[in-house]
Amino acid sequence: MTAQIELNGIDKHYGVFHALKNVSLTIDKGSFVALVGPSGCGKSTLLRSIAGLETITAGELKIAGKTMTGVPPRHRDIAMVFQSYALYPHMTVEENLTYSLRLHGVGKAEAKAKAAEVAATTGLSQLLGRYPRQLSGGQRQRVAMGRAIIRNPKAFLFDEPLSNLDAALRVQMRKEIRALHDRLGATSVYVTHDQIEAMTMADWVVVMRDGIIEQQGRPLDLYDKPVNRFVAGFIGSPAMNFIDGRIAEAGRSVVLADGAGELPLARSLEPGRAVVVGMRPEHLQPAATDATFHLEIGVIESTGSATYLTSPDGAFQLVQSERSSLKPGDRIGLSIAPENIHLFDPQTGVAL
Ligand code: ATP
Repeated sequence: MTAQIELNGIDKHYGVFHALKNVSLTIDKGSFVALVGPSGCGKSTLLRSIAGLETITAGELKIAGKTMTGVPPRHRDIAMVFQSYALYPHMTVEENLTYSLRLHGVGKAEAKAKAAEVAATTGLSQLLGRYPRQLSGGQRQRVAMGRAIIRNPKAFLFDEPLSNLDAALRVQMRKEIRALHDRLGATSVYVTHDQIEAMTMADWVVVMRDGIIEQQGRPLDLYDKPVNRFVAGFIGSPAMNFIDGRIAEAGRSVVLADGAGELPLARSLEPGRAVVVGMRPEHLQPAATDATFHLEIGVIESTGSATYLTSPDGAFQLVQSERSSLKPGDRIGLSIAPENIHLFDPQTGVAL
């Protein structure tokens, strides 16, 4: 794998505010990388720094092996796709697609031919003569994509491109974007606050918080082996449940707070040690006879395909694929496979 974008010890200050703290990341050629994290974590700042729209305070950024210090955005050979599309309203689809080529001195006939090619790739062939106002949200998004593709850039940078679309269209467009990435053999960096989007689209997910990278890896590795409580709670939907506990005397089980029960562990830890126990809602099984802990049910919600059971205080949730005959106030027995139990240090949040 060759690196297409390399970030080495990047720092970004906005005045006294430290928005990116020593961020290092290698983005391989042909990969689809998602930057994900809560609002304000610095993901857009990182993307904009790659694009050259922000000046980094310290560190080194390389694109295709070249240091980008002092290189203005238009000379970085990358294309950005925004949530707002930023289409020219007075230009047709074809004119929107060809605008940047024409600006770079490409002849009319060649630009037209390229637009036809890109329109075919993005499903816009029938819409070349329309104006943006005559397009649906998804179609506008495709024009924005087409405009990025037409320049054959070294990388595509996406900043929450699907936020303006309704839920069904988002699901469709994320498949389209990923398929397009594969067809073009592109390198893509995709910013989103939606971890499902990150997990389903990307080969490599970078989880950020407060200007640092908390963890990066393949999507399922983040789900299976979160390095800390923050990543554990951020990746996965519904979110992981956390409950305080203490390692039992023999070291092979954990006693949950409030007498909820005792869970056998797949390994042994120091007896008496305080821990935070993490359990994913989908890993909890109702158990008639071999229950290891108990939970009171406060709220029952069904989507048809799944039933969500939530404790009265809202702190604990499990999801079942079967329909449920439970009622609010019922107490149920639960079990969890020892290998699905996550343990974290209560002070540092680091996975044990
Ligand atoms: P969101 O999902 O809300 O867009 P984000 O993770 O993309 O969040 P950024 O836009 O990268 O966050 O912002 C990171 C932090 O830097 C935020 O706390 C923000 O307030 C701050 N910030 C961004 N731009 C500036 C600026 N021009 N001046 C000062 N602070 C800024």
